[in-house]
Amino acid sequence: GGNTVRLPRWLKTDIPMGGNVTRIRKTLRELKLHTVCEEARCPNMGECWGGGKHGTATATIMIMGDTCTRGCRFCSVKTSKTPAALDPNEPENVATALAAWGLDYVVLTSVDRDDLPDFGSAHFAATVRNIRAHAPQMMIECLTPDFLGRPDLIEPVALSGLDVYAHNIETVEGLQRMVRDHRANYKQSMFVLAHVKKLKPTLLTKSSIMLGVGETDAEVLQTMKDLRSAGVDIVTLGQYMRPTKRHMKVHEYVTPDKFKHWEQVGNELGFLYTASGPLVRSSYKAGEFFISEILR
Ligand code: SF4
Ligand code: SF4
Repeated sequence: GGNTVRLPRWLKTDIPMGGNVTRIRKTLRELKLHTVCEEARCPNMGECWGGGKHGTATATIMIMGDTCTRGCRFCSVKTSKTPAALDPNEPENVATALAAWGLDYVVLTSVDRDDLPDFGSAHFAATVRNIRAHAPQMMIECLTPDFLGRPDLIEPVALSGLDVYAHNIETVEGLQRMVRDHRANYKQSMFVLAHVKKLKPTLLTKSSIMLGVGETDAEVLQTMKDLRSAGVDIVTLGQYMRPTKRHMKVHEYVTPDKFKHWEQVGNELGFLYTASGPLVRSSYKAGEFFISEILR
């Protein structure tokens, strides 16, 4: 303890825990659904689950277990070379639980499963198809692993019936080795995004950049330009927050004005939507954006 870096005031938020959130949490326990929102103690829970002015409730669900085969330096998910086997009933169970919850917009994400022959691609795609079958109105975004850039593993997910294909570039090219697991890299992630767009141009693609890890402005600009060149439609930028002292340090707390600047840059570069702010997360009010900006 002791000499922790003081948080700037714009990052001090209380997690709003209204009656709605409490009620939903109870339902989730009954349904045995695990949300990233709760596990990451995300400060946006009240807003995302509550739905905002369009009434579009969003949540993020993690599939394929709680243990990742990779170890990125910003991430608090547990790591192992040999995580537990996949639960074959998960695609169906997640779908029925989500249908019972009555969510409007789900972000499905997963750990990376480099231990599996197909890296979990078929399981991911099956989960989307089951949700489509049980809750046809639900909007589905998948925040996917890089599948080592293999088209044969990317394509089943891209063609599974989802609305938004998201894959995070995480940081600028020069900091990839410092920030992400050694199996991930900039070109591979850009390829994933470009390949999905080429395969199915009508599918929306999305990516996120964490700021405050040591990147320069020129590097952020280049990354945004490269994402546009890969045909990415939606970009989000947020502040990196260190999960524990074993994780990499925050290099800088980027100011709200600077985040505004990147939002303008995103609009000028022609992204369909740019979300940029200290507390913005990849999935931040994703359903609200979808309804208000994309389907308008
Ligand atoms: Fe975390 Fe994803 Fe990296 Fe795994 S691959 S350590 S879940 S960021
Ligand atoms: Fe959940 Fe993402 Fe919203 Fe946080 S930003 S509450 S993780 S959906």
